[in-house]
Amino acid sequence: MTTTTREPLATTLDYAGLSREELTERIHQRKRELNAVILGHNYQRVEIQEVSDFLGDSLGLSQEAAATDADVIVFCGVHFMAETAKVLSPEKTVLMPDPRAGCPMADFVTREALQKLKDKHPGAAVVAYVNSTAAVKAEAEICCTSSNAVQVVESIPEDRTILFVPDRNLAHYVQDRTGRENIVAWEGYCYVHDDMVLEELERAKEKHPNAKVVVHPEARQDLLERADEVTSTSGMVRLAQEHDELIFGTERGLVDQLRNRFPGKTFIPLSGAAVCGNMKLNTLAKLAWSLDHMEHEVELDESVRVKAEASLRRMLELSGGWKAPTEEERKLEEAGVRPSGCGCS
Ligand code: SF4
Repeated sequence: MTTTTREPLATTLDYAGLSREELTERIHQRKRELNAVILGHNYQRVEIQEVSDFLGDSLGLSQEAAATDADVIVFCGVHFMAETAKVLSPEKTVLMPDPRAGCPMADFVTREALQKLKDKHPGAAVVAYVNSTAAVKAEAEICCTSSNAVQVVESIPEDRTILFVPDRNLAHYVQDRTGRENIVAWEGYCYVHDDMVLEELERAKEKHPNAKVVVHPEARQDLLERADEVTSTSGMVRLAQEHDELIFGTERGLVDQLRNRFPGKTFIPLSGAAVCGNMKLNTLAKLAWSLDHMEHEVELDESVRVKAEASLRRMLELSGGWKAPTEEERKLEEAGVRPSGCGCS
């Protein structure tokens, strides 16, 4: 391996000029110096996944990080995920290699806009999908993932109106499943899932008539109605174990991961265009720069953090807590597959 100069370089462009080996060496050394851990979301670039200490979905990664004795967390994912790590690990320094890596779905709703809606519906319960900012979580009564959204909504008394943010498609799915009329859905969506259209599903079905179609609840209702199964990504992983031929309506990173795991099976992405570009903004060069310069630090107002943590903890208590996996999750863990509950994980 090449010996590198350990002096920090000035810009991310300087780091981009280094070889992959040099960057990896710098990252490992600096990680040791800082007692840092690198959290890599499942949809990060392969080279980032390779230097990550933990791989998984946003909530699981944040909880893993909170359980370690690291002083510094570098979150390679999107902004709301790094915020969640800070919410659960307030005493640790949380860094993002590229602060522009945001989630368009989370950005659909701001605290101020949500406050206006709350003013219109006094007494309503706000349910915030984990794909939301900390400021929005702080205004919520409880958080949810796509796996437990139905359970969370059912835990709220039937006579209370529910303001469900920010994903309208998940809200409609929950409404359909629970039969509750009094859910007000925020008009947000994940472009990766919302852009999938029925024609793509029909085309995939024509080519693979024996394949079952499984679609994530962040997709539009007409796709959900045509699907054989509607389930979270953890449900998709379970189906991949049980079936030989499946069409997946979700971010195609999951399909690629499952193809690697089950090479003899036929797994087809419902849409080849279902890729989240925001996740791919992080690069190895930016990660090395981030560690050398201790940038970009995620900071949260303590009053916001405490309230956001309360919303997350209410969800965790309701669903048995992160450290109490369901039977299905336990089987997946045993099979070496990390379950995850939200669409981008
Ligand atoms: S996949 Fe969708 S929800 Fe996940 S980060 Fe990308 S835009 Fe946001």
